[in-house]
Amino acid sequence: MDKNQASWNQKVAQEVIENLEKRRMAGSYAETCAKALEEVLSMVPDGATVYRCGSISTTAIGLWKRLSDRPQVKVIDPYLPGLTREQSLALRHQGFGADIMIASCNAITLDGRLINLDGLGNRCAALMFGPQKVILVVGMNKVCPDLDSAISRVKHYAAPVNAIRLGVETACTHDGLCRDCRSPHRICNMWSIIEGHQVQDRIHVKLVGENLGY
Ligand code: SF4
Repeated sequence: MDKNQASWNQKVAQEVIENLEKRRMAGSYAETCAKALEEVLSMVPDGATVYRCGSISTTAIGLWKRLSDRPQVKVIDPYLPGLTREQSLALRHQGFGADIMIASCNAITLDGRLINLDGLGNRCAALMFGPQKVILVVGMNKVCPDLDSAISRVKHYAAPVNAIRLGVETACTHDGLCRDCRSPHRICNMWSIIEGHQVQDRIHVKLVGENLGY
């Protein structure tokens, strides 16, 4: 990576981490995806049950392949090929009782707020009150200066790109722009804004100094 971008990532990550800590959440920074992968793996002890949430970032760093190579770790994976919709939904419910949830975040503000938008709500709900521990892998490309810009990022970029990825029939898959559609396949139904936590360090944000996810 360009050394100026790397320097910006490191400085801004430090600011975000300090602000997460003021909100009783934890944060750490990895310069590369490779480092982030090893650091996240080290946070998953043998015997743990891990809930997989939809996330390009965690897949891109190779996390699910590496976890599947650890027989002592049980992954609750609603994205396994061949599952029926009912089976996938049942696994999403089961995930609430996991030891650890690993996902990403649609945007994070400089002052440490976590912004997410779901179609079904399973990820937002689990983030708020699901597994005992939450690990979020977040590229520095998702850091926004404030809440308004974070919401704008999610609605006008992350959601349409994800809709295109999923191939759903929504307005944004045609021209890339959010038209605030009323499609039954709309992926933007439920927001969560996490401002802090009563349970110290339940949420750990692993910031990554590379572009990750949408
Ligand atoms: S509201 Fe509809 S058009 Fe807008 S981003 Fe979401 S799915 Fe796409």
